[in-house]
Amino acid sequence: MTDQLEPMPEDWQRALAIVAHPDDLEYGCASAVAIWTDQGREVTYVMVTSGEAGIETLEPAEAGPLREQEQRASAAVVGVTNVEFLGHADGVIEYGTALRKDLAAAIRRHRPELVITLNPDDTWGGTYWSTPDHRAVGRAVLDAAGDAGNRWIFRDIPDEPWNGVRWVAIAGSESPTHAVDVTDGLERGVRSLMEHRAYIKALTTENPETYARNLIEGFARESGAQFGGRPAVTFRLFTR
Ligand SMILES: [Zn+2]
Repeated sequence: MTDQLEPMPEDWQRALAIVAHPDDLEYGCASAVAIWTDQGREVTYVMVTSGEAGIETLEPAEAGPLREQEQRASAAVVGVTNVEFLGHADGVIEYGTALRKDLAAAIRRHRPELVITLNPDDTWGGTYWSTPDHRAVGRAVLDAAGDAGNRWIFRDIPDEPWNGVRWVAIAGSESPTHAVDVTDGLERGVRSLMEHRAYIKALTTENPETYARNLIEGFARESGAQFGGRPAVTFRLFTR
């Protein structure tokens, strides 16, 4: 038996998930969000871009609004009604104080105890290279969790500093530490990915449901080997 992961902390009420693109949360994480919203917790999504450069066959001016619409539908499937788009340029997000400030502002606005983001590492493990947007946003989220609490920086953010982020959870990490049993969230996880219809259609000729189900159920089963054999979504948890 492989080393087992810890269960995710349960003593929180508000989470904020901040990722680069529409669809980033739907490749696994959404099944855990379904579990959390079932438990009466509030989860808000912040997308740094509208994913307008993500569909080869569609001009950004058309793709952006379409992908925002798909992301809102996708979030609704797992009980998330608050979805914000920060309007950075898809594909060329720059790590820096401008991004940190926007994310710190989002954290001050929503006052989460748990912040969720996507793996900022160079790869998804092995030789599967990630993208510059994921690296920039993941790192900036980890940094902004601290920036949000420092009243002497980003002083023109209208909301009060928020020093209440207790954890930042990284989804899609090669070295997870924690997990959520998603037995009861898996079906909604599959359906939330399927809501990215235009995106999936441009990505694969496979039937969208088969595509989504194989991926989401496959990841959860694989992760389950580290969590008592239950279907799981894993996180690398940074405690603050
Ligand atoms: Zn992405």
